[in-house]
Amino acid sequence: MMRKTDSPIWHPFTQHALQPEMTPIARGEGAYVYTADGRRIIDAIASWWVVTHGHCHPPIVRAIQEQAEQLDQVIFAGHTHEPAEQVAAALLELAPPGLAHVFFSDSGSTSVEVALKMALGYFRNIGEPRTRIVVMQHSYHGDTIGAMSIGARGVFNAAYEPLLFDVAVVPFPAPGREQASLDALAAACERDRPAAFIVEPLVLGAGGMLMYPASVLAEMRRICTAFGVLFIADEVMTGWGRTGTLFACEQADVVPDIACYAKGLTGGAMPLAVTLCRAEIFDAHYSCDRTRTFFHSSSYTANPIACAAARANLELWRQPETRARIASVAASQERCLARFRYDERFSDLRRCGTITALDLHADEPGYLAEVGPKLQAFFRGSDVLLRPLGDTIYVMPPYCVTAGDLETIYAAIDEAVDHVV
Ligand SMILES: *Cc1c(COP(=O)(O)O)cnc(C)c1O
Repeated sequence: MMRKTDSPIWHPFTQHALQPEMTPIARGEGAYVYTADGRRIIDAIASWWVVTHGHCHPPIVRAIQEQAEQLDQVIFAGHTHEPAEQVAAALLELAPPGLAHVFFSDSGSTSVEVALKMALGYFRNIGEPRTRIVVMQHSYHGDTIGAMSIGARGVFNAAYEPLLFDVAVVPFPAPGREQASLDALAAACERDRPAAFIVEPLVLGAGGMLMYPASVLAEMRRICTAFGVLFIADEVMTGWGRTGTLFACEQADVVPDIACYAKGLTGGAMPLAVTLCRAEIFDAHYSCDRTRTFFHSSSYTANPIACAAARANLELWRQPETRARIASVAASQERCLARFRYDERFSDLRRCGTITALDLHADEPGYLAEVGPKLQAFFRGSDVLLRPLGDTIYVMPPYCVTAGDLETIYAAIDEAVDHVV
């Protein structure tokens, strides 16, 4: 096929033959990004779910600037630094009580890999070699081989299937089918004696912004406890206020054994991730026997500049205004979504905290639905950054978004669907 691209860059989740042109972004501020030629685009998906307070949020920018002049990077094995120590302390203060240790890495996927390695290391070190992982149907945990193994199988990972390890899958607790899902989890825990159950609490992001109630999450936690199965909460997307609380697990009063946070950890300004765990998991590795070491690292573990950004973000989360902002965005989102309540073009209107989603009545549902690329193309030409997941349109804005911006976003959705479907 004739190549139509001038750039050597290979973009993520991009079919270059169908989308040869990339939109060049020169600048970001608040809820907007600006193209090189001066177009102002509302970032309605927080630049892939990472930007929380807004682009180039001043306290975070200042923190990055100051840290860059102080200490840029240092090996984190055998060394430590203030930004990392303070981030760890603040995380333990804000995260569900009972989480006691913090392991740094640099992306959501690696935070999940770390969680899996912690779980398996724990059981090996206590002399009970459990290795199987239980997952929820439609889950997404990242794109590395381990993270793909525990995520939904499909077109995204068909080519790598032979490398993916086998897991037990419990059905998604769709409305009316919650009990079947819980029963399947209990059955898998009893039958397989798994090491861990990993789940996206309350909202399955890449799986199509699928939402389920906190009561189901609480019950899943209870089942895991009953069977001695570690409960891993992947809050990479749901963390940092997205679901209305700082972390989604709070709404179910769930304390996970292991929790993964990334995306909004730095407010979306720098790549950084953490995996938190309970004391027992750290303690199982704590030994004079060097074979029990937790053998994991990446070059930029706890990069000081990224940690300084995270520290500034955690400081923002101590301020009541931040939580008030979340509540206000959630309320505006609810009002805007109501516009489509009786609209026959849409189904399954849903909201969890600051996230809204709705499905189109597509001929071929799912990620490869024909309407997907058409909608994406339409939005690329508009001044609203939206990127539907197949036939699911969702809005996940930075929290500085105004009610007026949201009106613009929903008007764009209205117009796009009229135009394309
Ligand atoms: C985005 C995401 C990941 C992967 O995070 P990356 O930083 O993209 O590697 C993992 N889990 C969930 C739930 C996510 O939404």
